[in-house]
Amino acid sequence: MEQSLAERYAAIKAGIPGGVTLVAVSKTRSASEVQALYDLGHRDFGENYPQELREKQPALPADIRWHFIGHLQRSNVKYLAPYVHLIHGVEDERLLDEIEKRANAAGRVIDVLLQVHIAQEETKHGLSPDELRNAVRSWPWGSWPHVRVRGLMGMATLTDDREQVRTEFRALHAHWSEVRNLGAFPIAEFTELSMGMSSDADLAVQEGSTMVRIGTAIFGDRAAR
Ligand SMILES: *Cc1c(COP(=O)(O)O)cnc(C)c1O
Repeated sequence: MEQSLAERYAAIKAGIPGGVTLVAVSKTRSASEVQALYDLGHRDFGENYPQELREKQPALPADIRWHFIGHLQRSNVKYLAPYVHLIHGVEDERLLDEIEKRANAAGRVIDVLLQVHIAQEETKHGLSPDELRNAVRSWPWGSWPHVRVRGLMGMATLTDDREQVRTEFRALHAHWSEVRNLGAFPIAEFTELSMGMSSDADLAVQEGSTMVRIGTAIFGDRAAR
């Protein structure tokens, strides 16, 4: 028998240790599906598409913490800046310039994660480990006072090979520890490691994830987009 949303949500929550944030990935889901999970007490939701988020956000409760987990173009930052809770996928300086400008205009400090490319697929976004080190050492972090770097985000290769996925998550955790210790960001702020989706969240948590992004395991299969 098919499980209800409440049953799936309870099962997912039971599998995630306290201290790990569950981001419910609601891309392609209707506002009423989001509202249903909100009514079960959930507040952290992840979206990939700015246009979709622009439609949903005003229709839903204002205390939802919206995580932007997709690839963000500079032209869309202005729409999200007034309310976005965390931008997971930052990978270039010009995007940081734009977030700084729009956060300042909105009178906010916006939290971001730097995205690291750990997968074997070239289609995934993110800085290579070398680019990450270089960015942390040499990008002008002081020129973005309205941006706060809270940690790293990454996506493992889409594969059934669980050992490979584990190896990639372990590598990302090592990069995270390294960056934490470089001193570019206050250690008390650089606390988040966003990794793990429906198929691999268990491995991600074992390898030190502090934030898992789960869509289908909560809401069911997504229609093709
Ligand atoms: C869609 C998406 C997810 C959620 O994927 P599921 O397999 O549905 O859990 C997580 N992270 C990112 C970046 C995504 O685009």
